[in-house]
Amino acid sequence: MSHLNETVARLHREAPLTDTHAHPAMKAYLFRRNLWRRYRSSMVLNPFASRADFNRLESGGVGIVWSANYIPERQLLEDCFLLRVISALLLPAHRKITTGNPFDRLLEMMDAMEREIARRPDRVELAKSVADLRRIREAGKIAIVHTLESTHMLERDPERIDVLADRGVAMIILAHFYDNGFVAHVDGMPEDLWLRRLCTFDFGAGGTPPLTDLGRELLRKMVEHRMLVDVTHCTPAARAEVYAELGRAVPVLATHIGVARLRNDPYNLTDDELREIAASGGAIGVIFMTYWLSPDKPGNGLEVIWQTMEHIHDVTGSWDHVMLGTDFDGFTDPPDDVRDASELPKFTQMLLDRGVPEDDVMKILGGNAMRVLEAGWR
Ligand SMILES: [Zn+2]
Repeated sequence: MSHLNETVARLHREAPLTDTHAHPAMKAYLFRRNLWRRYRSSMVLNPFASRADFNRLESGGVGIVWSANYIPERQLLEDCFLLRVISALLLPAHRKITTGNPFDRLLEMMDAMEREIARRPDRVELAKSVADLRRIREAGKIAIVHTLESTHMLERDPERIDVLADRGVAMIILAHFYDNGFVAHVDGMPEDLWLRRLCTFDFGAGGTPPLTDLGRELLRKMVEHRMLVDVTHCTPAARAEVYAELGRAVPVLATHIGVARLRNDPYNLTDDELREIAASGGAIGVIFMTYWLSPDKPGNGLEVIWQTMEHIHDVTGSWDHVMLGTDFDGFTDPPDDVRDASELPKFTQMLLDRGVPEDDVMKILGGNAMRVLEAGWR
């Protein structure tokens, strides 16, 4: 192992390297996969690729994963015949996204992830608090933290936050592809995706009001239970209302996102918002999906990830608000140079090559994510 590789390995261990947005739980539940088996990775958008299974997390030196639980909205299948066919033919859990209620399915997804974790209790463990995280990391294991992608699974019932808090959920991404009754969502599916040429999705993006009364109640409950708020997928107007409602009392997150200065899309954060999130003590996870980061053909990916991170640094004045949120296993098209978790050392090496001091590299890799959890989780 070269000296630099040793440095990268040490930084990953000590930071610890934290991916604030990945979807191994989706592979465990919808594909009924054993996350300790070896599956193929892939350079392109391939729903069968495996990017954040436990072997790849270990070989990439990932210490903590904020595991996003997402039961696909039923409307995706209603809007798209092709998805309906693919899902029916290929998803062992197809019935589970077309029947029953999404909240029960969500709990089943968390159960499935916990069963995968329980296969190797010596190497990976679920953390339900910051104290758990510290203990698990001291034991040298990977820590998994449950998070939710989208509130549609709550079915307009803020009381369900109680159940999720008991399960250890650390954070909720308020919006996703369709209306959820709490907060308005942007169109979150890439326009150049081949699927969009074959199906007409009726996302109803931008709905009003940006934040409903129910949404305000939800935010109050989340803060009361010390659960963090993620504004990714919200409209700019909805994000503004969330910042105002939270009043900088808790850190605000956006875990898998880009910046509007480099790619002008309502999905991305404006410079004012970068400053607003920084002022709340929060942080921004840069998505490892070049589509959202740049309108140009952005090469192999690391370059535009760097440009996005550097922009957040320049606007907020420090590296204290930059994280990574890869979206691996989220049916995304990853950068060619970093197609799965095992290739994350290339990202860290890039930060060192660009001259980012080691202390700041540690913040980006995991220090900032840990600070936010300490401030806003249990
Ligand atoms: Zn997302």
